Amino acid sequence: MAGSIQSKPIVVVGAGICGVSTALWLQRYECDVILIDKDAPGQAASYGNAGLIAQWAVAPTATPGLWHEAPRMLLDKDSALFAKWSYLPKMIPWLTQFLLNSQTVRANKIAQALPNLVVDAVDQHRALVAGTGVEDRINDSKLRYIYPTLRDYENDAYSWGLKRAAGFKPRVITGPEIQELEPIVGPKMTCMVELDGQGHIHNPGDYVARLAQVFTERGGRFIAAEVKDFERDGNKISKVHTTQGSFACSRVVITSGIGSKPLMARLGLSVPLEAERGYHVLFKRPSILPNHPMMAAGKFGITPMGDVLRCAGTVELGGTHLGPSSGPIALIRKFVRDAFPTLEYLSTEEWMGFRPSTPDSLPLIGEIDQSGIFTCFGHQHIGLTAGPKSGRMIADMISGRRVNYDMAAYDPNRFLR
Ligand SMILES: Cc1cc2nc3c(=O)[nH]c(=O)nc-3n(C[C@H](O)[C@H](O)[C@H](O)COP(=O)(O)OP(=O)(O)OC[C@H]3O[C@@H](n4cnc5c(N)ncnc54)[C@H](O)[C@@H]3O)c2cc1C
Repeated sequence: MAGSIQSKPIVVVGAGICGVSTALWLQRYECDVILIDKDAPGQAASYGNAGLIAQWAVAPTATPGLWHEAPRMLLDKDSALFAKWSYLPKMIPWLTQFLLNSQTVRANKIAQALPNLVVDAVDQHRALVAGTGVEDRINDSKLRYIYPTLRDYENDAYSWGLKRAAGFKPRVITGPEIQELEPIVGPKMTCMVELDGQGHIHNPGDYVARLAQVFTERGGRFIAAEVKDFERDGNKISKVHTTQGSFACSRVVITSGIGSKPLMARLGLSVPLEAERGYHVLFKRPSILPNHPMMAAGKFGITPMGDVLRCAGTVELGGTHLGPSSGPIALIRKFVRDAFPTLEYLSTEEWMGFRPSTPDSLPLIGEIDQSGIFTCFGHQHIGLTAGPKSGRMIADMISGRRVNYDMAAYDPNRFLR
């Protein structure tokens, strides 16, 4: 096995779900791994997401029709798409590519590459945590979409068609059965669509932190430092420079979420990565919880997490430097008021995070030429779902194992040539 014989360690930069998964799999393959993060593990996007293991998420983010829908959505306060207008001009190159990818032919092609990443995600999480003591954090569940009307569900025909093509069998529920199954749902939601065989995680940030702890308990090194730069020996990566000193390495894996873009720039590589900003509202000590996670008409996830109801989602185009906006939070709160009229709670908490998103909805998983520089970032809305499998793919590649998937669609070199 090639992985155990490298002379210098492998450095993994970023301890979100992608980095921790990569580090754990490499460790399992007996590689010497250093995991580096400027913050504690599980604090960035991996902290505040909806906790959904979204095996059903087989549709690209740019779907057919978005080209003419997006301007209307940006102006409609009931739509889950928002913008920081001052930032939009900076996004034009990314947005152009993104919207071009919403053409039916391109969207369909992208959609062929998504199921591989997500449809066995619950099993991939279970494989990741096997023997760690964290097994009980993974919950099997159904997923229930709630819509104001049947018509709203029918308007989502493209993404439901892709789900059916991937083998999912939605059950459409109308009438009083909605309240029988989910007493939290009020009369304004007249359509519920149920999918079996999904999963979710309570407190995903803590889940990632716990897995990072397992990595160190097993002898892995975690360094709390910011990576500033890299050094190459010819084409090959040789050193990582951080605020806590420099580390010689045989390979580096960039798993830095939205922070991957400036790091790739230090390596002389320009990648089209933008933040799709997302928000959550926690409703603490709720009087009632849904029995299964839900999706609010495709706008955000609604996940029961013990003594908290977490509502997380929406998309705001706005980079990483500007502060949070009130619109997405107001949208979440209004939907919750309308959908769950009897819900009471003690208090709420709000959060904003950055989804690392590419214009083609696909992550960058692979090696840059034969440089020893590996990438595992760009997982947009599905990083919690696909992180464990993506990290395993990278570990398989590095350790010389056979990767049983067509990796061409995720090849990082697609943006660099
Ligand atoms: C509101 C919202 C809801 C979501 N819901 C879901 C969901 O239900 N299911 C799902 O599958 N996905 C969901 N997502 C997406 C998911 O959260 C992300 O795709 C995923 O967390 C990305 O993980 P990551 O490991 O790539 O990045 P991150 O979790 O962002 O981790 C990157 C790490 O790199 C570190 N880093 C960056 N730069 C440096 C540097 N220079 N030096 C050292 N360290 C560095 C950061 O500190 C950070 O810890 C959601 C996202 C949002 C915002």
